[in-house]
Parts: sequence; C-alpha cells; structure tokens
Amino acid sequence: MLQPGLMMNLPLLLSSVIEHAAAQYGEVEVVSRETHGPLFRYTYAQCAARARKLANALSGLGLVAGDAVGSIAWNNHRHLEAYYAVSGSGMVMHTCNPRLQAQQLIYIINHAEDRVILFDATFAPLVKGIAAHCPNVRAWVCLADAGNTPTIDGVANVLSYDELVEPCSEVFAWPQFDENTAAALCYTSGTTGNPKGAMYSHRAIVLNAMSGCMPGLLSLSPSDAILPVVPMFHINAWCIPYAAPIGGTKLVLPGPKLDGQSIYELMESEGVTISAGVPTIWQGLLAYMEQHGLRFSTMRRTGVGGSAMPQALIAKFMDVYGVDVRHGWGMTETTAIGTMGILPPQSKTWTSEKKQALLAKQGRSAFGVEIKVVNEAGDTLPRDGSSQGELMVRGHWIIASYYKGEKSPLIDGWFPTGDIATIAPDGTMQIRDRTKDVIKTGGEWISSIDLESAAVGHPGVAMAAVIGVKHPKWDERPLLFIVRKPGATLEKEEILKFLETKVAKWWVPDDVVFLESLPVGGTGKVQKGDLRKQYGGVFS
Ligand code: AMP
Repeated sequence: MLQPGLMMNLPLLLSSVIEHAAAQYGEVEVVSRETHGPLFRYTYAQCAARARKLANALSGLGLVAGDAVGSIAWNNHRHLEAYYAVSGSGMVMHTCNPRLQAQQLIYIINHAEDRVILFDATFAPLVKGIAAHCPNVRAWVCLADAGNTPTIDGVANVLSYDELVEPCSEVFAWPQFDENTAAALCYTSGTTGNPKGAMYSHRAIVLNAMSGCMPGLLSLSPSDAILPVVPMFHINAWCIPYAAPIGGTKLVLPGPKLDGQSIYELMESEGVTISAGVPTIWQGLLAYMEQHGLRFSTMRRTGVGGSAMPQALIAKFMDVYGVDVRHGWGMTETTAIGTMGILPPQSKTWTSEKKQALLAKQGRSAFGVEIKVVNEAGDTLPRDGSSQGELMVRGHWIIASYYKGEKSPLIDGWFPTGDIATIAPDGTMQIRDRTKDVIKTGGEWISSIDLESAAVGHPGVAMAAVIGVKHPKWDERPLLFIVRKPGATLEKEEILKFLETKVAKWWVPDDVVFLESLPVGGTGKVQKGDLRKQYGGVFS
C-alpha cells in the first residue's frame, strides 16, 4: 500500500517569493529605469514593503481575490511590485502587450474583466483611445509619481500610482490559498482571430522560476545581476521577475529604453552579468558596440529566444565578446522557458563552429517539461535529429486550456505548439519553422529559419526574413527579404551565390527584396504576416 509522505504541505505562492527575497536578500538591489528617464534604485526589502502597500491600496479600491488587474507597462519597479501585490492578494495579474492593436487590447481587457489598469505614461495615448470601450475598469493608474502622471482628455479616473500607494500601510497579511489558484494572465499575440488567454497558476510560475535559476538554464545566484530585456508584458519576462528574487539576484529593469546604447550603458553601470532578450534586441546592442568599439566588462551570459537566434550572431557573442549564449524556446502557453541549450563537457575539444551550431538549436527540455514531435497522423517520430513534425509539450507549466476557452487545445494530454521541430538522440530540440511559415515546395519542406540564419551569416546582412510565395509548379517557393548593414552594398546575385554555398540548391530563394527595415511586432518577432500580405503574390 502507498504510504503518505510526512512533509509539511505549504502551497507554492508568489507572495512567498518576494517575502523570501525580503528576508534573505533584503539588501540586494532592484534598479529600474523610470519612464521619464532617471534610474531608480531600492532593495528587495523595500520592494516587498511597497508590494504590501499596493495590496492594501487595491483592497482600498474595492478589489477582492479573483479580480483581474491589467498592466500596460514596461519592465520597471512599480510593475514588479504589481506582479507580487496583485497575485499575492489572490487577484490575477493580466499583462497586456501594448503593441497589440487597440481593438485587440479592448478585447483582452474586457475578456479578462480587468477592474483596474496600471499603465506607463508612454501609453497614455493608448489609454485615451481605449478607456471608453472598457466599462469594467474603475481606475487607470499611471505607474509614476503625481508630477509624472498625465491628465488624459476624456478619462476621468486617472490616478498616480505613488499617490495611491504611499499613504497605505506596509503591513499586509498575504492570504494563503491553493497553489493552483490563478496568478497571472497573458494573451497570445496571434495574428489571426482573437487573442487567447493563458492563465498561469502560482504553482506553475514558482516551479518555472525555480527551474530558471538552475545552472543549465539562466543560472541565477546572489553574485549575479540580471537584466531582463524580455518584456514583463509577454510570457512573464521568462519568469525572471520571479526567478531573480528566488536566486537573491540583483534585478536591473530597463524601462522603455531598449536601444543598443541604453542597454549597453545600463549593463556596464550596474555590473550586469546575465541578460535575456529576443535576437532583434541583441542585433541592436551588438551593432552599437561594434560601431563604437566597445567591450563588456561584466556580462557573462545571455539567454535568447522568442525567435531563432542566427548562428552568426551566436558566434559574435561568443568569439568576439566572450559571452555565453543560452538559446531557449518557449511560448505564451508555456509560462516561460520550455527548453534551453547549453554546451556539454565534451565540447571543450570542439571547434567554435561546432559549438555554435549546437547552440543555434533550442536545447533540451527543462525538468518539468516533456517534448515530442509527431507526424500529421499524430504518431511520435524518432529522436534522430532529422525526422521533423509538430512539437508537442506537456508539463507543470504548460496550459491545459485557454481562459474561458470552450474546447481543450490538448491532444492526448499534450499541447500542440504549432512549431515544426526535430529532436536529436541526445534530446536536443531544433525548431525548424512555424507550421504556417514552413515553405512547402515540390512535396518537400524548406525551413525559413534555416534560410534566414544562413543569410544573416553574410557580413553585409543585418536582418533577413523568408516567406513562401505561391508558385504554379512547385506549390511554394522562398522569397528572401534582406536589410543591409549600414554601408553594405550587397546585391541579389551576391547573396544568392553566398546561399548556394550554405544550403541545398533547391532551397536557394527565387528572389530577393531589399528593405530598409523588417516589420517587427510587439514581442520582437518579424511579422511575416505583413510581408505575406504585401509580397505574397505568385511567382511566375
Ligand atoms: P509567443 O507565444 O508569442 O511567445 O510565440 C511563441 C513562438 O515563438 C513559438 O511557438 C515559436 O514559434 C517561436 N519561438 C520562441 N522561441 C524560439 C526560438 N528560440 N527559436 C525559434 N522560434 C522560437
């Protein structure tokens, strides 16, 4: 007969995370870029106290457990306080992506039934446009002091966060409840149909954040300082705002300034050792550093994901700047990191190229997440590194259903990701494409990601994107978009010749379009839908 374990049964609650940091790492700093410019700094102890004040303030506004509080905000200390105050009170922290279209924002705020919205002054024009359409929102709270809180024409109930919070007591007894209670909500930024809500539980977030601290993932410790460039409005900034307090790690929040110069200067001035962001952010940072001949003095490791990190960029980080790259994969439905790559011990004797080729893949699944790839019939494909099919995931921090969703998205208990992947015998997963982006040509598949990664390997290419364009004979053929590096004179013939040396002949794109920039969406991903709309005609 099974025997019960005789351990205490304490729920994994987010309030315990910030109180842990306050008690054990009370002196560790949180540094935050204010939306109006200057740097703000305080400690985890002060952050916890302010979170308790906000919890009292929200209760003073009449909110109760189960209510939703939305945010339209950058990565900053007030947003961090809200992460803990809202969820810790048993309410739902609904992070809204400010780059959604106004109609979608209105939809998600109403769908989530947000009672209060916390916003940064940057987004005041957005608030002006949507407030009248969000009848459940009883207060719009600007994450600023009174002096930096704008008046918004036509919106009556705009409050200053500091004015709201400061008079409140910093004593608040965090309620204790089931760890499976909803803590946070984030909607997919899907381009078709209405966004769908992923409702994260306390348990899922705490487990993911603990896992994120581990050496094979972000490796957070009290001797580190981490700067999450990944936004707090999208998949919980990879749970770094929860993992850093668990690890006792200094947290550096960049606010609205995400350009190469601002990120570089913040990394240097705050002794940042670890960061995390999408490839486009790193492209901007490295371009700035190259232009000015700069080096990192403390940065050691960067997490990257959200879209595929081209191998050439990994090489630059590692070979030129001595920064260890951790390439991960995750999606709104997976709370934060699902897989991450790291070099094995035997790689010590490998060439740089071999190491970087491994790191260009998305790595092994973290403990707590299982992965498999299946064919169209749903059969599991072998882990041979070449059989590709849809990536399926299951685990402690993978959604089981969408918020107010009618139909379970799961297939036999697994979540279908919509990504095409391979899994190697050692467990390393490689994303080959999105199911909707893969280019189907003459019955075979071309990976747009592999083509883009190869194109970015050319020294004259700053960014590349590939879409499939209808073709009368081959079904689809690849069309390549290139943004040249400043000063580069690259032309079509040269890039196609270069690609012939990197990919199979039948993969070489049929045409190349040179653009000044690529359309990049709210989460730093190239909007291939926009490219398809404009260029997805028919090849003759
Ligand atoms: P989102 O839910 O908006 O975060 O988008 C998740 C999707 O981003 C995944 O399903 C992948 O298609 C893509 N993605 C995330 N990380 C990576 C990565 N490292 N490489 C390639 N694609 C990625």
